[in-house]
Amino acid sequence: MLEKAKRLTFGCRCGSRHTISTSVLEVSDGATDKLISYIKDKYESGRALLVCDSNTEKYAAPIVTALGCRCMTLPGNAHANEIETDRLSRFMDGCGEISAMIACGSGSVHDIVRYCAHEKKIPFVSYPTAASVDGFVSGVAAMTMHGQKLTYPSSSPVALFAEPAVFCDAPARLTASGVGDMIGKITSLFDWQVANILTGEPLCRDIFDMTKEALDTVITASERPDVKTSREFPVLVMKGLLLSGLAMQLAGNSRPASGSEHHMSHLWEMHAINMPTEALHGEKVGVGTVYMLSHIKANADIIDRELVIDECKIFSDDVVRPIFGTLAEGIIKENLPHGEGSSAIAVLGKDSLIKNAEKLRSLISSLPSPDSVRAILKRVGGCTEPEDISLPGDPDFIKRSVTYSPYVRNRLTFSKIISAVSVTQGGISK
Ligand SMILES: [Zn+2]
Ligand SMILES: [Zn+2]
Repeated sequence: MLEKAKRLTFGCRCGSRHTISTSVLEVSDGATDKLISYIKDKYESGRALLVCDSNTEKYAAPIVTALGCRCMTLPGNAHANEIETDRLSRFMDGCGEISAMIACGSGSVHDIVRYCAHEKKIPFVSYPTAASVDGFVSGVAAMTMHGQKLTYPSSSPVALFAEPAVFCDAPARLTASGVGDMIGKITSLFDWQVANILTGEPLCRDIFDMTKEALDTVITASERPDVKTSREFPVLVMKGLLLSGLAMQLAGNSRPASGSEHHMSHLWEMHAINMPTEALHGEKVGVGTVYMLSHIKANADIIDRELVIDECKIFSDDVVRPIFGTLAEGIIKENLPHGEGSSAIAVLGKDSLIKNAEKLRSLISSLPSPDSVRAILKRVGGCTEPEDISLPGDPDFIKRSVTYSPYVRNRLTFSKIISAVSVTQGGISK
């Protein structure tokens, strides 16, 4: 897997120079021993710092003992936000010199560690304890800072060691969440293609194919008859997640792996239109994918129309504040980073859709039905409906979610165009 990714760093046919900073990727029995040897060989092991949480402490203990390193335990429900990065940062300041950090946990522990490791320029090693997200080897940190969901350029792990005995032991809910995160690649890859067609945004075919392979790996694994009992299933999900993470690292951003479905998840994590939910990242992404697919298909007819959008109105305080409240200023800044004309939709012309209607039609018709995605998620025990993740399931909530989720990122997605059209016309049309 890593060899395939490394090949793209020697000159890719897309003309870009891709880089990768993860030099070891070990998913095999005995990975824990290899992690211990790796740290002992490369770094002063007594000066390493392992970060876990109260759920993953039991997996951390033998590593901490073998290395004689320091250990910090975050709360079990730690979110990747300013409270936890401050807590870890203060702990690190009291440690003196730190040779390397080890993230022992799932997604949030990794984001907190990579954020602090990047700030203090310390290498970090990943030890994932669940096949729950694709961010382990990515180079971006998904944080919720002061209520706003933001993606920060960050550090990729220098090495990753995934021990099947550990991550297969994780609750089945976590693996199902990993499937939800992967199923989101259906719409993220679609959105990347849409942006490439409409604006010429670079799309590396090899990175695209790598992410698609990761998605197909997980879909095929989810079709196994023994999906709920097999120990091979979490291993296949982990491999798919890592492949997708490597694709993000090569791309230098989250474009291959994060589109309109992730924006739904991010909106819900900002608690602008809903109460906080303890649902997992991949659970929200899975539900977001189902409803984004419905939204895209229901609004496919916009591709035959002239595009009439009013950027000033779409990102006006009058539209943004009633939805985002105190986050309004940050949302407007995200969408208009350099004032009027700097949003992702500003480059679209009146005839952008009509000119490319055939290509867009073919892309939309190749998307699977929401029900077929529901079926995959249900097979693995995943979440498919807002009510499954403690969100309201009424049509108005869904409408608000699909319409305003594109506001959380200044990234062109098909749903962002639908929102731009409907808000320009004075509200939500469908
Ligand atoms: Zn994700
Ligand atoms: Zn390329």
